[in-house]
Amino acid sequence: MTTETAYPNEISPAPRCLLCGGATAFALERRGFAIVRCASCGFACAPAAGAADAARLYAEDEFFFAGRPETAQRSWYDVLWTRKRPFYLARLDRIAGFARPARVLDIGCAGGYLMRAARERGWSVEGVEPSPAMRERTRAALGCPVYESVEQARAAGGNFDCVMMFEVIEHLADPVAALRAIRDLLAPNGVLALSTPNCDAPGAIDGKPLDIWFVPPIHVSFFNPATLVRCVERAGFAAIASAGIEGFAGVLAGEIRLPRWLRAALKPLRRGKRLLPHGAIGKLIERRYAGRIDLHQRRDPAGIARADVLELYARRVD
Ligand SMILES: [Zn+2]
Repeated sequence: MTTETAYPNEISPAPRCLLCGGATAFALERRGFAIVRCASCGFACAPAAGAADAARLYAEDEFFFAGRPETAQRSWYDVLWTRKRPFYLARLDRIAGFARPARVLDIGCAGGYLMRAARERGWSVEGVEPSPAMRERTRAALGCPVYESVEQARAAGGNFDCVMMFEVIEHLADPVAALRAIRDLLAPNGVLALSTPNCDAPGAIDGKPLDIWFVPPIHVSFFNPATLVRCVERAGFAAIASAGIEGFAGVLAGEIRLPRWLRAALKPLRRGKRLLPHGAIGKLIERRYAGRIDLHQRRDPAGIARADVLELYARRVD
């Protein structure tokens, strides 16, 4: 049986769901691409954008430098990293609860920022990065293997104790196939750590406060807490822990997330104006509250459902 659905961008009939085989139907259109959603499990994807091979976007150095020369000291990605850093360090702490530092592969390692932090915690680091400029940058900075693809990492021997792929899976047209290939890179009982935007987060459809969810052809696969678990299970993993981050999009947009009591106290002082990180008060408070990432992390199911970014930790099943 096929589902006859009229699409704005010509993939018809609607494909079967990659995760459960259920019927999908048109859900929304963004940036000229149709996004379909499975009625049974809720997994969503942008089939036409996926067919155009979103992964190729990242082989272009331009993605990281956004118009700046490749010799620039800081790409826009470097700037982004400084905002993401506290969240990423917390992920390394979380991984330490599931695996002793040994060999870790960072897929989508960009300039090797997270690899450097992992090395400082005792891990032997390797990376995968499609962008030639970022690959070279990481090799030069860390002096470790950086592969062009997962296939290349596997050809070099694989057998990693941990594979990290933070904010990568949403870029992949067939996330189940990709995760199966990654499973083969892991040693028995090896840990997979990943994260992705939560497409059921409040604000996801409106793209508020920062459009990190439905952005085809950059993002082509869209998960919620349940479909993310289902996806790793289909690929041969057992989920061991889930988490969510509230306010991640806001932090990337330059907001400072403060405890509720402090926000209330500051409100009259700011006379309704938004607190900006580069303002004098903003700088002072940021210094005081930098690293207070516990304010954002949620491990309870209700909190995870509200989170704008999901984290999942899983083990290879043999
Ligand atoms: Zn489904």
